[in-house]
Amino acid sequence: MEISYILTGGNLGDRAANLSHAADLLGIRAGRILRRSSCYETAAWGIEEQPEFLNQVLEIETTMDPASLLDTLLEIEREMGRIRGEKFGPRTIDLDILFYGDMIIRTNDLEVPHPRMAERRFVLEPLCELIRDRKHPVTRQTIREMLLACTDPLEVRRIID
Ligand code: AMP
Repeated sequence: MEISYILTGGNLGDRAANLSHAADLLGIRAGRILRRSSCYETAAWGIEEQPEFLNQVLEIETTMDPASLLDTLLEIEREMGRIRGEKFGPRTIDLDILFYGDMIIRTNDLEVPHPRMAERRFVLEPLCELIRDRKHPVTRQTIREMLLACTDPLEVRRIID
């Protein structure tokens, strides 16, 4: 049994319903969802002329190995009709593995901890809500320290529900 943190995000259709549906599918197929962060509205990263994203981090307890977990995420993305077009383009749902325990994985298909989390405020803000004092297994910085050091200028707003 391992604890993993998954970032969910999307900027097409009913964004909140899509995040909620993705969380339901993850809960059924990947493992028990222990906690979820608030949802955050964020300017699109990479290409800015597109709708704003909604992002959330889920804490799940899973018996799946990392490769199977990734397969499950990709299957949910496909089923939910992600339009795989340009990199950083609009999408119904995007699912990323941020952490898988303290495991460090660097293969062609999977990099964990997610290699770009340090430069993305929309990842660090919701993650900080759940595990602010947890240390990144490679850099040994806490999530809070990573957020303080993050220079991403794109605004991130917590949605109060
Ligand atoms: P994207 O949808 O643009 O985020 O890219 C998806 C691809 O990134 C997948 O097909 C994975 O093989 C690869 N990938 C590498 N590391 C990760 C990770 N930590 N979480 C999710 N996808 C990953």
